[in-house]
Amino acid sequence: MSSQQDTNVTNLPDRTASSTTNGTTGTTNGTTEQNPRISLALVGGGIAGLCTAVSIIKHSPQIDLTIYESCASFREIGAGVAIQPNAKKALALIDPVLRTAFDKISTNSLWPSKQEYWFDIRVGIDVEGKKAGDLVHSPKCPDGQVAVHRAKFLDELVKLVPEGICQFNKRVTEITEERGEDGDFKMHLKFKDGTEAVHDGIVGCDGVKSKVRGFVAPECEPTFTGKYCYRGVIPMHQAIEVLGEEKAMNNNIYMGKHGHVSSLPIEGGKYISVTFFGNRPSWPYTDWILPTDHLAMLADLTSKNWSPFILNLIPLTSHNTIYALFDQLDNPLPTYAHNHALVIGDAAHGGTPFQGSGAGMAIEDAYVLGEILKCVTARKDLRKAFLAFNQVRKERTQAQVRTGRESGHFWAGDDGEVGFGDWEIMRGYMDTRMRWIWDVDLEWAVRVGRVFMGVDEA
Ligand SMILES: Cc1cc2nc3c(=O)[nH]c(=O)nc-3n(C[C@H](O)[C@H](O)[C@H](O)COP(=O)(O)OP(=O)(O)OC[C@H]3O[C@@H](n4cnc5c(N)ncnc54)[C@H](O)[C@@H]3O)c2cc1C
Repeated sequence: MSSQQDTNVTNLPDRTASSTTNGTTGTTNGTTEQNPRISLALVGGGIAGLCTAVSIIKHSPQIDLTIYESCASFREIGAGVAIQPNAKKALALIDPVLRTAFDKISTNSLWPSKQEYWFDIRVGIDVEGKKAGDLVHSPKCPDGQVAVHRAKFLDELVKLVPEGICQFNKRVTEITEERGEDGDFKMHLKFKDGTEAVHDGIVGCDGVKSKVRGFVAPECEPTFTGKYCYRGVIPMHQAIEVLGEEKAMNNNIYMGKHGHVSSLPIEGGKYISVTFFGNRPSWPYTDWILPTDHLAMLADLTSKNWSPFILNLIPLTSHNTIYALFDQLDNPLPTYAHNHALVIGDAAHGGTPFQGSGAGMAIEDAYVLGEILKCVTARKDLRKAFLAFNQVRKERTQAQVRTGRESGHFWAGDDGEVGFGDWEIMRGYMDTRMRWIWDVDLEWAVRVGRVFMGVDEA
């Protein structure tokens, strides 16, 4: 299945060609007599699912959309999520209204003098030549990295999705396909509540434990990366007492031995979102997110020599959880598409959070898929559309998984080649390692996808 589908596009379009237009023809609702409406299901209503829904609703009137979400409502767990310039760009491309709403709820470093920098990178332990808290480097991030409270971001997305499109408490448990006499595929979904549904196509946006992935690319389960983290949100005034204004109010990474800590202001500076990362050899539990408490966190992080100012943050965090970090690096998907089924977001390329880019890649996926789906005018086009998506998205998103793992080792001082003391080399790495993620031409990817679909000429 995979090798055939992974065909290369040999004739690529001119990078200077004009941007995409809606590829549909026919009536204003996008359908013609020959090409009846297309019913598409999105499995999962997280960032990937909702951003894709916003794009389809806005740009593809020929598609009848249903979102199946396993929870009782849309919800995001956890605290802040960093959004890089590439993802901000993708939000605007999906819908300028979405970008405007996002800009209102997102927060950069609070000091204007810090806003052109990605993070202030400091040591969080005493090392030769540097005291805990000392600045190592401030890599620039020209278009500004911001952070947003996850639940608030989801609220903004939900506002753009009409009521009735989403069905809640619908956990997909089984997926099968059937080929009709006309050659078109039908996708059959079974749910935990015993009900069933049939659609022309499905897009698995169901996260790192995806069910749809098992259908598209069997036996590609994520594996434990040897990394875990604790996350928390701390009121700004308390964070300032512990960290001081400069560190509390701006984006910071603290490098340690076999771990690192990141902190970002969120909600206009009312809180900071803080994450403590560490290493452990295995994860023997079925659940990947487990409750923990301050005592356990303190015992763990004290043994790793973190400076008192880092440890003093722990009692200020609430709703404490430990996250095991899994990714697809050891079992990459040979393809994201199989006939009329596709996976995107963490379902396709779940990675570690060390580049703050998993959600960003999901947003990029949503933009590119939304644009490609504009070209779908008949049910049978779904297969080509999903293959086109695979063609233009797989390499970049799998590179994010790989470099994410590498970044985890780098920030934890476990790189093997570069370590504490190699400050000049480290600064060079810090300046360059995110560039390929930020500097992306997503409209170019869409143009290649349209050529692959046969809508445009190369
Ligand atoms: C600790 C941590 C920190 C992170 N920090 C950042 C960051 O700063 N920046 C960044 O860009 N990324 C970050 N990420 C990554 C980011 O959270 C993910 O990449 C992003 O949330 C993926 O979105 P998604 O919609 O693909 O999946 P999810 O957010 O996992 O959404 C999946 C949805 O599908 C539903 N679902 C699951 N199974 C089924 C089923 N069988 N049937 C129906 N519905 C189902 C779920 O309920 C959920 O709503 C971080 C990740 C972690 C773990």
